[in-house]
Amino acid sequence: GNLTFTMIKPGAVSNEYIGPILSKITEAGFRIAAMKMIKLRTAQAEVFYGIHRDRPFFKSLVEFMTSGPIVVAVLEKENAVEAYRALIGNTNPEEAKSGTIRKLFAESVSKNAVHGSDSDENALNEAMFFFSRSEIF
Ligand code: ATP
Repeated sequence: GNLTFTMIKPGAVSNEYIGPILSKITEAGFRIAAMKMIKLRTAQAEVFYGIHRDRPFFKSLVEFMTSGPIVVAVLEKENAVEAYRALIGNTNPEEAKSGTIRKLFAESVSKNAVHGSDSDENALNEAMFFFSRSEIF
């Protein structure tokens, strides 16, 4: 697949890291195919993270993701999902490799700066959650 989906999460937006994170993304060879700044509603966040509904951190995850504006974007590159997960690094910034987006910009496991899709199927589903086909293609 050539597409992946990312969100710049509220902590990174409020810390003024939108520009630096987009620079890392474009310097790594991704093309920004679609992008917008939005505020997630609680119901949207609950659906988006529905797979984590039964996890102990679900409520705080939804509260965090709705606490301020986020940037959602569709990124294009060969092997995009795997390439982007390598660029963002481990979910836990303490375990993320140096130079990765989470090592540079994340505050903690829960405030970990960005989201990146974990499969081609999820990338398309997540992109279509926020964008219409004509905005992406
Ligand atoms: P993402 O899906 O955001 O790219 P990920 O695939 O690295 O992250 P997941 O295991 O899918 O990680 O978890 C989704 C999100 O839930 C994480 O990005 C993080 O914000 C939050 N999360 C995961 N594990 C924990 C935890 N133990 N405590 C608090 N928040 C967590």
